[in-house]
Amino acid sequence: VNVGILGGTFDPIHYGHLVAGEEARCALDLERVLFVPSARPPHKPDYAVSPPEARVEMVRMAIADNPCFELSTIDVDRPGFSYTVDTIALLQEQLGPQAKLYFILGEDALADLPTWHRPEKLLETCQLIAVNRPGYHSFSLRLLDRQLPGVEGRVHQVRIPELAIWSTELRGRVASGLSIRYLGPNAVHDYIHREGLYLNPEQPPHPPAA
Ligand code: ATP
Ligand code: MG
Repeated sequence: VNVGILGGTFDPIHYGHLVAGEEARCALDLERVLFVPSARPPHKPDYAVSPPEARVEMVRMAIADNPCFELSTIDVDRPGFSYTVDTIALLQEQLGPQAKLYFILGEDALADLPTWHRPEKLLETCQLIAVNRPGYHSFSLRLLDRQLPGVEGRVHQVRIPELAIWSTELRGRVASGLSIRYLGPNAVHDYIHREGLYLNPEQPPHPPAA
């Protein structure tokens, strides 16, 4: 069986993520798509990321009405940060050798792949499904292949209706008192307001101690 894996910070999850998961599922005939909230992303400082419990809860609510979407807490349940290559290996163990894994990501993330931990190993262990994202139209798989030979043959590019939605933008909107309605599921919107998430503008990095 084909299984999709959509990793992300999901702070908060929005319609861009859900459309990416659904379009990938239909295009590659995936039996299901696992949404995997990340623990502590090394590229984002701790203070800038909401607690895992909140991000997990928002994912849970956002995918509840889609029987093909599932939550996996495999990353937040393990101590420390997990690299995608390790997450995929663990999921392969959990799901068994019959499962064919496809990692779903936006072209912004795909462009960064050469900077990831062991990208060659990742490409050996799963195939990738890359979806377009506004602002990354100049992305070229051919050019990426020069940096990471072989990547071209492991990536399925799936065109999706473009949604210019970013979690960063949603957090900024809440901090500024602007509406985020209709950019993500209502239940997520209500949760954000009920829990008072994102009310404070994001802090700049701490200055180094003198
Ligand atoms: P942030 O602004 O905090 O980085 P984000 O909106 O980029 O948030 P992430 O959790 O970083 O969300 O993204 C997880 C995955 O979903 C990434 O592979 C990203 O490329 C993809 N993705 C997120 N938003 C979209 C979108 N609007 N269209 C297509 N792919 C998306
Ligand atoms: Mg992002």
